[in-house]
Amino acid sequence: MNSFSSQLQQLSLQGNLRHLPEMESHGTYAIRNGRKMLNLSSNDYLGLADDIALKEEFLQNLNLQECRFSSTSSRLLTGNFPIYARLEKRLAELYGAESALVFNSGYHTNSGILPAVTDNRSLILADKLVHASIVDGIGLCKARCIRFRHNNYEQLERLVAESASQYDKIFIVTESIFSMDGDESDLQRLVELKRKYDNIFLYLDEAHAFGVRGVQGLGCAEEQGLIGEIDFLVGTFGKAAASVGAFVICTEEIKQYLVNKMRTLIFTTALPPINLAWTLFIVNKLCRMQSRREHLETISRKVRDVLNPLNGSILSNSHIIPYVLGDSERAIHTAEQLQREGFYLLPVRPPTVPQGTSRLRISLNAGCTDTEVENLVRALQNCSSKL
Ligand code: PMP
Repeated sequence: MNSFSSQLQQLSLQGNLRHLPEMESHGTYAIRNGRKMLNLSSNDYLGLADDIALKEEFLQNLNLQECRFSSTSSRLLTGNFPIYARLEKRLAELYGAESALVFNSGYHTNSGILPAVTDNRSLILADKLVHASIVDGIGLCKARCIRFRHNNYEQLERLVAESASQYDKIFIVTESIFSMDGDESDLQRLVELKRKYDNIFLYLDEAHAFGVRGVQGLGCAEEQGLIGEIDFLVGTFGKAAASVGAFVICTEEIKQYLVNKMRTLIFTTALPPINLAWTLFIVNKLCRMQSRREHLETISRKVRDVLNPLNGSILSNSHIIPYVLGDSERAIHTAEQLQREGFYLLPVRPPTVPQGTSRLRISLNAGCTDTEVENLVRALQNCSSKL
């Protein structure tokens, strides 16, 4: 047997074989194998991706001159259409920051920034649970990296105290809301740590908080009044903002440095102007979507109340709520059962999550009604009583 097929067989035996699911999406519903289910697996946190009124408004105001479906070159060649400058100016304005730089995706952002800004005189201290895109970026760095235990700031403080004088720059890298556990980092504590040293940079991935947290939907740093303290504030447009791409909020100097050094910005075709125009349209609306954010928090609390007590030390504090089931077979079986009851939930298994913590990842959506969430809560309670 060749090594590809034996490895696939091994994944299958472990219950970790993945398939591309064939499915369709309609509003807050997913349709798969003819079954219509409440979609609890997308990152469309504000329920905007299939909002007909928004789509109509965007299309009606679209200037055909500006409407291009490809940029056909890198931003450094001919792909830097004026819409980039408009979007970046707006983002910088909203964050009250010097600059913003837009990238093709969160993956491009996280795999590109750290390799560009670090060298062998730098130290990276990254939370154990940061997203794969950050891990891949770290893999491309010449800098030394230590992963600290998830949200363990005693260990982090110790590591900083031991190494601060040995390195030119220390990059502390974390997420504000963690993508799989739905818990939060302690931004205040990270900022206090940063203030004690003059060579620490804070890198914060707000992919799951952008659009969802803060009065204007700018994320957890906005919610806590700490935007100005974050050196690299990353957000993505593919989740609550229902678009594609990502950005970093930073100083003008760092922006210019990235434009010169960041390979995932330089060596890729720029985003299509039509996508940038849709992103700007949504970004302008996001700051006024507080009632959607409030509804999302209300329904999230209801689901957390049921699942947090079942998940041991994993305590969600957000709209991402895991249902930790341990082994992969059990997660697959429970997902199938809930799908039969009309809830589109998928098993999340290693290597996406640590061994022994296979789970269902419920990501709630402001488009879900109170009744739908009450039905979900009942189904989850039923499920857990049978386990
Ligand atoms: N950061 C985090 C925390 C994520 O969860 C993800 C995607 N799920 C990304 C970055 C990557 O973003 P994108 O999908 O835009 O590549």
